[in-house]
Amino acid sequence: MTEESPVKPVDTAAAEKPEKPAKAEKPAKAPKVEQLVYALYRVSRCHGCDRKLEKGEIVKLEQGLEEQRAFCSKCAGLEGLEILPSGNAKITRLVKKYSQKCFIVMRWSEVWKTYERQGLYVEPQAIAQARSELAAGSAKVSK
Ligand SMILES: [Zn+2]
Repeated sequence: MTEESPVKPVDTAAAEKPEKPAKAEKPAKAPKVEQLVYALYRVSRCHGCDRKLEKGEIVKLEQGLEEQRAFCSKCAGLEGLEILPSGNAKITRLVKKYSQKCFIVMRWSEVWKTYERQGLYVEPQAIAQARSELAAGSAKVSK
């Protein structure tokens, strides 16, 4: 094990490149746009109804002229939805199928200083339906 170059060669051209490839044009008609919602990481205020928003609340963020505007679940039409934590691919797929509304929940990570995908924000009955379908399915397959 020999290390010939302890210092990484600095390639300025490559280093400054953004993550996205240059030709990342949005397709004219995407089949299904997955909208993002955010779990607040600090107290905020709803831009729509001026309600105080607590940390952890699910909001929709819109980029205003100078700052991001947060909209509470009521103003953003997210009322009655529930978080389905990511991690179970089977249930996620089913819930996506059953839920009329489906948002991706992003949560701020202090560690990475970026937003991470936390799960889906979907209709509770879709989660229930997916769970019961999976339960029925696993009952059939005996291990
Ligand atoms: Zn509001």
